This record gives sequence, C-alpha cells and structure tokens, in this order.
Amino acid sequence: MPRILLVEDNELNRDMLSRRLERRGYQVSLAQDGRQAIHLGHSVQPDLILMDMSLPEIDGWEVTRCLKADEGTRTIPILALTAHALTGDREKAILAGCDDYDTKPVDFMRLLAKIETLLRTTAPGEASLSDQRVSHGGEEHAGS
Ligand code: MN
Repeated sequence: MPRILLVEDNELNRDMLSRRLERRGYQVSLAQDGRQAIHLGHSVQPDLILMDMSLPEIDGWEVTRCLKADEGTRTIPILALTAHALTGDREKAILAGCDDYDTKPVDFMRLLAKIETLLRTTAPGEASLSDQRVSHGGEEHAGS
C-alpha cells in the first residue's frame, strides 16, 4: 500500500487522520513540524504528502516550495490542507507547488477521493522522470 507522510502540528488532528488512513490500508509516517517534514520527505520517500499549511516556524508553504525545488523530492505529490477556504488560496497552493488542495475541517471521504486521484495520476511520474534522464544522456552521447 502507498505510504503517506502526514504533516500536522495539531496532535488530535494528526492522531485522528493517521488512524483513519491506516484503517484504509495506507502506511502513514508522521511529521509534526516543517523541519521534520523536509527531513522525512527525503528519508521516507512517501508516495504522497498530506500537508497542513499552518505550521509553526517553517510553514507548509515554505516546506512545499523547499520540497518541490529539490530534485530528490519534487516528484512527490503534495496535497495541501488549509483551515480557511479563502478565495485565491487554491491558486496560492498550486503556485507554491502543491498538486491539490483541500480545506479543514477535513471531510474524510472527500479527502480520500483526492488522495486516490493524486496517487493514480502521479504514480508513473517517477518512471517518466528517469526516462527523461536516460534520454538526456543519450542525446549528449549522440551529439558528441
Ligand atoms: Mn496547523
């Protein structure tokens, strides 16, 4: 089953959401702040990151930009969770590099549908990225 990195500073939300995801068969890794999220994004290589955007110190926006700027983590889909559905927040999340967006309080079934869609649509991403690298090398060889 896919592994989800859940980034959430609120302990109650973290426990509730991780339990519900595990009940659905997902493997769940937990981060409670931005620093941990960046570290675990690299070491765990999750299939998807569920990112609370309001985190102390390094917030979810900055963590997302950081992970998406890094070659080792940029293909991991990030689903942003924000507490308020301000107009423009979705655009802001996409601009920061998030692949999708949902609002809190979480509607679990709706969130689950978004998770499943993201996992389906981004699963071949890694393969195609390494294909690009291979074909890049090939072109260089052909040129020289
Ligand atoms: Mn929070």
